[in-house]
Amino acid sequence: MREESDVSIKLLQDEVSISRVIADLGNSNRGNTLMLVGGTHGNELMGIGAIQRVVAYLEEHDLELNGRLLAITGNMEACRLGQRYLYQDLNRMWTRENLDDLHYNRLDLRHTENHELSVVYHHLKEAIDVTTGQFVLIDLHTTSSPTIPFVVTNFFPKSIEFVQPLPLPVIGGLSGFLDGTLLSYVNELGHIGMAYEAGQHQSPLALESHESFIWTMLEHTGILKDSEDARLAYHRQSLAGSSKHISGNFKIISRYRIREDENFRMLPGFENFQPVKKGEELAQNDEGSIHSPYDGYIFMPLYQSRGNDGFFLIAPLNADA
Ligand SMILES: [Zn+2]
Repeated sequence: MREESDVSIKLLQDEVSISRVIADLGNSNRGNTLMLVGGTHGNELMGIGAIQRVVAYLEEHDLELNGRLLAITGNMEACRLGQRYLYQDLNRMWTRENLDDLHYNRLDLRHTENHELSVVYHHLKEAIDVTTGQFVLIDLHTTSSPTIPFVVTNFFPKSIEFVQPLPLPVIGGLSGFLDGTLLSYVNELGHIGMAYEAGQHQSPLALESHESFIWTMLEHTGILKDSEDARLAYHRQSLAGSSKHISGNFKIISRYRIREDENFRMLPGFENFQPVKKGEELAQNDEGSIHSPYDGYIFMPLYQSRGNDGFFLIAPLNADA
């Protein structure tokens, strides 16, 4: 694998230098492994900022970890340019086809995102191979519009059990709607994988929210034990407060996929988790209005130019739809 140089990114007001491996602390022989990925989308940098803050604290206070914390940058080249991706969305590329091509050395690594995929894959594989405890991956994201924080995972028994105690809404049922995500690949390998969406891209609140989530995960995986009780309690409460009492499990029931050249425009003002009624106008394109086919909640409305998913609709996991 070729040597990768650090890149400089702009994080709120600061110029920050980032490496592929942001941190690798503790020991995988002694407990669970928590792998964090920041910057899978290059315009979502708050996760990297939060990792750096947590790691600086852990190192400064020389805290002993009961397990391993590995944190890496996802799409380095996209982070350098501050855009979601260059040619292909790295978080839609974790497909069987791409991974088989990678395994058989048929993936053209001169292609930017193929290279990024292969590097992240090798870090992931190494971490899974050497772990003796549970392996947990968290992919840190932000959204184009303001939102309460939420978790995305697949409703496999292991994941449900793991996310149950979290005071946050959990979205599942990705299959067929959101394919090729890193978290789904990790779930299919039989491990706990999730994405954490902390808030809006440039919001300082998203940075704080990522930081609270990372501390809470260090506690929840047992990697940080019997120390820092007050700090952990503060971050757990901060997460609970930020979700505005929306919690529980939701499934995706519909996705509006944007076709090329349709000139999709989300109507302004939709917020994540806002209830919508069947027949309600949600967006427009060159042919006219786009209406909701269901009663449900709007999820991830697109308010940026890049991306193929206009919006999703979700419903409580146990509802009929
Ligand atoms: Zn993202």
